This record gives sequence, C-alpha cells and structure tokens, in this order.
Amino acid sequence: MRAEQTSPSLVNEPPYFNSFSSPNRLLMGAGPSQVHPDVLKVMSNITIGHLDPAMLVMMDELKDMLRYIFQTNNSMTFPVSGPGSLGMEACVNNMVEPGDKVLICINGVFGGRMAEVTRRAGAEVVTTEDDWGKPVDPDKVRKAFSEHPDIKHMGFVHAETSTGVLSDAANLCQIAKENKAFIIMDTVTSLAGVPVQVDVWGADAVYSGSQKCLSCPPGLSPVTFSDAAVKHVENRKQPVQSWLLDLSLVSAYWNSDGARTYHHTAPVNSLMGLHEALRRIVEEGLETVWARHRDCQQRMVAGLLELGFEMLVDEEFRLPELLTVFLPPDIEDAPSRTLLLEDHGIEISAGLGQFAGKLWRIGMMGEAAQLENVDKLIGALKTISR
Ligand SMILES: *Cc1c(COP(=O)(O)O)cnc(C)c1O
Repeated sequence: MRAEQTSPSLVNEPPYFNSFSSPNRLLMGAGPSQVHPDVLKVMSNITIGHLDPAMLVMMDELKDMLRYIFQTNNSMTFPVSGPGSLGMEACVNNMVEPGDKVLICINGVFGGRMAEVTRRAGAEVVTTEDDWGKPVDPDKVRKAFSEHPDIKHMGFVHAETSTGVLSDAANLCQIAKENKAFIIMDTVTSLAGVPVQVDVWGADAVYSGSQKCLSCPPGLSPVTFSDAAVKHVENRKQPVQSWLLDLSLVSAYWNSDGARTYHHTAPVNSLMGLHEALRRIVEEGLETVWARHRDCQQRMVAGLLELGFEMLVDEEFRLPELLTVFLPPDIEDAPSRTLLLEDHGIEISAGLGQFAGKLWRIGMMGEAAQLENVDKLIGALKTISR
C-alpha cells in the first residue's frame, strides 16, 4: 500500500480551538448589513442536495421574488454563487467580447472597479469621470457617445457606495438606448434601498449583492439579463472566457425548464437564507421598504447635523441607505470607530479611496434601517463627541 492509503507519521501537531461565536453587533456601515434572525434560522436548515426536488422548488420561488425586487420579467434572473464583484464579472464577461468598445462611467471606487474588470475582459474602455460625491453627468455620457459612435456597451454604478451618491439611472439608460448600446448596471447598494426598475429602464445586464439592502450574509450576487442580452451572449463569436460564469452553461442549473443538471455545487444553505431575506422584503412590500429607508435617513441627517457632521452629498443625489459624512473637529476617525464598536457594538465604515481617513460611511441598509437604530447610533455618538 502507498503511504497515502495508510497512516504516515504526522509532521504538524493538530491546532485545537473553541467553536467560533460572533460578538453582538449592530451593522450600520457600508455592508454587510444587519441580518434578521429568521434568515439565520433558515440557513441552519439541514443541508440538502443542490438538485433535490425541494431545492428546485425553492430556487423557482427565489427567482420569482428576485424578478419582483428587480421589477423585471427577465427569465434569466438568478443569484450568482459569489459576492457582488462576481456578479460584476458575470455581467461584464458575458456581455463584452475582446475588442469591444465599452463606456464605463466612473464617479467612485466601484465604477473604477468596473472599468478594470472590463479592461481585463479585453475591451477597449473609454470612461467618463465625475468628482467623487457627484452623480454621473449625463452630458458627459452623451459627449462620449458622440465622440465614439462605436461604443457597444455602457456600464455605470446606480448607487456608488464609496461616496453615497445616487445617479439618474433612467436618464443614463435612455441615452445608452438612443445610441444602441447594451446597458450594464451595478445595483449592489441600490436594490431594495431605492427604486430599481430594470424593465422600465431597459437595462440589459444587472447585478446586485446579498449583503447590502437585501440584508443577507455576503456571498451571493443576484443578476438579471434581458432577453436581448441573452440572445447577444448566445451569438458571441468567442465563448465566454470564464467557464464558471458562462450564462449558457450555468443556465442548465438555474434556468432549464425540464431536467436541471449539475453545473457547480450551488451554496445550498446560503440560497435558503436569500430566499428568506427576499420573502421578508416581498412581505413588507417594496414601497414600504423604500419609505423606511427614507425615514431613517431624515432622522439620521438631522441628528448628525446637530452633532456638527457635514454631508458630502447634496440632498438631491443623496442615497437614503448610505450617508457619507465629514467629521466634526471633536471626533477622531479611527479611535472613535473603535469606541463605537467596542463600547456600543455598532459598526460603521471608514472612507474609501480618496476619502480614506476623511469621512465616515453610515449605512441604514435593509434590516438596519429602523428608527431605533438611528437613535442608538446618534446616542452613542453623543457620548463620544463630548
Ligand atoms: C459592495 C459593492 C460591490 C462589491 O460587492 P462585494 O460583495 O464586496 O464583492 C460592487 N458594487 C457596489 C456599488 C458595492 O457597493
């Protein structure tokens, strides 16, 4: 017998640890957001096969609920097994072929990431750039299309999480349509926080993330592709570079009407959790969910202004679910965030990119968007600022 089939003497001693147990936290940063105990409870169901008949029923319900939340009838709607960035990779790598000219609108970190992902997909990327804290400027987008009539796809971030800015998706999509370009849209932070209307806007490849306003643990990325996008992917000259993300292959698991077949082993328990999180949103109703985020923001802004914080973003473009705020002189960045976490159990987020060390990002995403949580954070900040 070979050594692998018996027991060779071990070189490393076994490391022994206790089971992990999370500290109590209130997540009011830029994600992950607070997860409802019911979602965690459903995730602790026994694991079943990824092709179990019960699983297939649950997946169909999940897709129906995603269509409601995306406001679409797209049949190609499902969660990619991976974080929001993998949803971004899925949309870009299916839609874009090497050599395509793609316009990416950048007004923060995630627009920059989309440009990089698109370059790596072999595209020729042209960009519009707007100051951080401002929305994507439609005039610059129009100008880019008139300078580059051969642009095939336009990509933009609906809600820029690095800056707390909401761009005018309806208008941007309209411009892309007039120029016959496919639309790739990032709704990671916007979905279920503000209205997202995939069909009304005519967006083609749209991705989101489980851990922002959907209030699920991180690791799943809901996506939806228009019928035109699906046809476009089917007619590609070259196969999608990524085997894992290739729509035409993964749809054998998520989308075939008859026998569904193995593509990759889907994260069964995570999908159960997403099912419950979506169920909670559907039960509350999108309009109510959006209003709850707006109410929280109003209360949070009033409380923060009173404490001397200043808003980065003008009210007109401000995201209800994520505020970006400059600190008053009597509050220090890192030490205060540590105090909030250790003494009050509240997590908020630091600035990203050019705003690192300069501002805070305060999230009221999904389940965290409750007035009592706003009061908790404002109360904690009062003890710190003294
Ligand atoms: C969080 C986020 C992402 C990336 O999601 P991950 O799950 O961290 O990979 C992409 N775009 C936006 C706008 C985000 O807020």
